[in-house]
Order: sequence, then structure tokens, then C-alpha cells
Amino acid sequence: CGIVGYIGKNDTTKILLDGLKELEYRGYDSAGIAVLKKDKIEVFKALGKLVNLEEKVNEFASGDYELGIGHTRWATHGKPTELNAHPHLGEYSYVVHNGIIENYKELKEELTLKGHKFVSQTDTEVIVHLFENFYNISNDTTQAFKSTISRLEGAFSILLITKSDPTKVFFFKHGSPLIVAKGNEEKEVLFASSDAPLIGLASSVVYLEDGVGGIATSDNIEFFNDNYSWSTLPSSKQFAQK
Ligand code: GLU
Repeated sequence: CGIVGYIGKNDTTKILLDGLKELEYRGYDSAGIAVLKKDKIEVFKALGKLVNLEEKVNEFASGDYELGIGHTRWATHGKPTELNAHPHLGEYSYVVHNGIIENYKELKEELTLKGHKFVSQTDTEVIVHLFENFYNISNDTTQAFKSTISRLEGAFSILLITKSDPTKVFFFKHGSPLIVAKGNEEKEVLFASSDAPLIGLASSVVYLEDGVGGIATSDNIEFFNDNYSWSTLPSSKQFAQK
């Protein structure tokens, strides 16, 4: 239902939680964040109100994270439980997803036969397993992400992070909204599924069109579609400061 993401030097968990609060009005049954430091990823999830997630983060998070992704879930496949809350984990990658993967059943069958173990009832979990399936073959995260996208049907906005390439956030939009923004500060990138979390934090933004994705690091955003680059933002706009 709601997606946020952050790369930068400010307080990652606070920015993600504040962003999710801005998306609360859309409704949700659970929430979660995955945050990365060096090549370690920590995940926090909670059922119900964001305050439940916030309490866990305040108690257990260690701080100094370099990037992170967050999600408020409105269950479509699989009950609202903590296990089914996003981010979803493979062996070394985490994903948040808005929308529905229409062909998740056949993908799940295919991947289960290849030895992938599924722990949730969601459609979303196939994304990380598909990614890892392709990464295990090619050893190339970009290639693996593109191959993953090519196998998904339905509506999906995605942010994916992986220990295999820990400075990057992989993103893609198809069917449900996703925005990529340059932060007000140096070396800062933000993601959100609607404007609200970006107000006051972003200097210019790209409202991604369907079929557009890419890879973000603190230094650079590379769009798979060559027409998009930071120097020629297709729909950049200045946000009012809070
Ligand atoms: N289909 C996914 C799920 O049920 C994502 C739902 C959403 O957009 O929040 O977990």
C-alpha cells in the first residue's frame, strides 16, 4: 500500500518511519522496514499501528544505517500477520512491493522446485526468490533485477536491496505509483509511493512512468530507460519546504 525508501547520511530509521506516517491515511494492516549498514541488513516488522513498529525500532535498532526501505501493507494475498508484512526476505535480499503479482502461483511452484523455501503466504515473496535465482546464475545484480522484472505480471512498484550489492537500491514501477527524488542534502536519494513523505526533504523528483526502473546509490541514479537521467528530469518539480 505505501512505500518509502532512503539513501543518505541522515537518520534512516526516522526518515522511513516519518515517511510511513505520511502514508498512514491510505490505510494499512501492518508495517515494516529493512535497514542496511555495510553488508548487514536488519529488519523490523509489526502488526497494526505504526507505533508498534516504532517501539521495536527504538528498542532494537542500532543506528548509523546507510540506506533503507519501508512499507505499510494492505493485504491482498495472505492474512495480515507479522510474517506476511513487508519487507520480504530471500536468503540475502529484501523487497517491498505495492500491488499484486498476478502470476505468483506459477512462479512460486517453479522456484519451490528449484529449492527455494517460502515462509509467507504473500504474492510478494516470489520477487526476492526470483531475484536470487537469477543472481545465483549470473552473479550480476543488475542483470538479475532486470530478469526478475521480465517475469512479473500484474501491478508492482518495487524497492529491492541486497547484501550482494549493498550500496544500491533497485527500483521499478509498473501499475502502481512510485516516485524517486533527489534529497535536499548532498548524496541523498528518497523514494515514496506518493508525494507526502517527500515534502520538505526533496529538491527534485521523478514521477516514474510505467515500465521505468533503475538503480540508485548515494552518488547516482541510473535509469534503465536511457531517456531518464538526473540532468534531464522528465517531470522535476520543486517542493515547498515544510
Ligand atoms: N500484494 C501484496 C501483499 O499482499 C502487497 C499489498 C500492498 O500493496 O500493500 O502483501
